[in-house]
Amino acid sequence: MLKGSSRKRIALFGSTGSIGKQALEVIDANPTLFSVEILTAQNNDELLVKQARQYKPDIVVIGDERKYGKVKEALASVPIKVFAGEKALEEVAAMDNYDMMLAAIVGFAGLRPTLKAVESGKAIALANKETLVVAGDIVMQRAVDKKVPIIPVDSEHSAIFQCLVGEGRNPIEKVVLTASGGPFLGKKPNFLVNVKRDHALQHPNWNMGAKITIDSATLMNKGLEMIEAKWLFNLQPEQVQVVIHPQSIIHSMILFQDGSIKSQMGLPDMKLPIQYAMSFPFRIASDFPRYDFKKPATLSFEEPDLKTFRNLVLATDALFKGGNLPCVLNAANEIAVFAFLRNRIGFLDMTDLIERTMQHVPFIKSPTLEEYFESDGEARNFAASLIKL
Ligand code: NAD
Ligand code: MG
Repeated sequence: MLKGSSRKRIALFGSTGSIGKQALEVIDANPTLFSVEILTAQNNDELLVKQARQYKPDIVVIGDERKYGKVKEALASVPIKVFAGEKALEEVAAMDNYDMMLAAIVGFAGLRPTLKAVESGKAIALANKETLVVAGDIVMQRAVDKKVPIIPVDSEHSAIFQCLVGEGRNPIEKVVLTASGGPFLGKKPNFLVNVKRDHALQHPNWNMGAKITIDSATLMNKGLEMIEAKWLFNLQPEQVQVVIHPQSIIHSMILFQDGSIKSQMGLPDMKLPIQYAMSFPFRIASDFPRYDFKKPATLSFEEPDLKTFRNLVLATDALFKGGNLPCVLNAANEIAVFAFLRNRIGFLDMTDLIERTMQHVPFIKSPTLEEYFESDGEARNFAASLIKL
């Protein structure tokens, strides 16, 4: 496969994850449109090496520095540069060998490399929602300064983005984010208190990485997405609404000022929003399964149960108060999910841990980037201190 200059050169940060692997499937199906120039992974050196042999990027980065030797040796016979560690992710993100970063690292760890890519003028296909939850004001401002497009990969935000095509400056009245409700839709706290990790990892409609799957079960994912939507589409907090739509066919909607509602629909498949972000403004043909209107189906909508799924209340609070509170919420949530996945705390304990951390870390109204990093660290330390050893 020759590397033609007309192909869009992709840097795939987080290539071994759920989004990363599906992005490579999209690239496999469109070899004349995209080339892979950078692949990065945190721990999974074996898959990273396999991907590197197949896609022949210019550079690979393994996050875990202890694995550098192994990756370097495995790729010794091919002309691929190998780097390791957190700093390398940022350095590589600033390089000129690619056109678009697909930001598919999970969690706060995605922020620094994504920001570097923005600062060096690269288009961003953004899966890593935590980047905007933590420091949305700074990231979006730098993107404006650098005239860098940030195209959402998150299915709800991709839906809204697609609904906005052709609307110019027509004002939005409301954005309605749809949520499947996760595996515990309709359940009450007396059930949730006993939920274990393996059950929470079974999502009815989407097959995703562990962290976002737990976030979907607690509805924190939707809370993070409300904050993500605010920054991506320049909305006021009261313009963002959540509705439970268990079938995940309508991926989100916009209510415009004239009362008209636009939605984007399709079977739940992340390859579609990934492909759209990579090919925008064009649509390219795909063989993804089609929704079939001949099969009887009901599309239903209901209000989220805020008494049971209190994470959504905490996230809404962070959305409205702003400042460093979304950053603190995110950090505490990462610690809580990590602890739950290791069976260290229960399902409902996650919410308590996040709430107490939000009450503990001092509020900063307009944080600098450094202050965001400090708030993140402070929140992590405090949240971790609440988990009994
Ligand atoms: P995942 O856990 O499957 O993959 C995460 C990737 O990030 C892996 O390649 C891993 O090696 C890398 N990574 C993990 N920790 C890292 C660190 N500290 N430093 C550098 N790299 C690290 O996650 P995913 O489900 O693919 O999700 C990725 C992002 O996309 C998340 O922010 C998630 O919220 C968002 N997202 C995912 C989906 C989905 O369907 N999976 C949908 C919408 C949005
Ligand atoms: Mg989503």
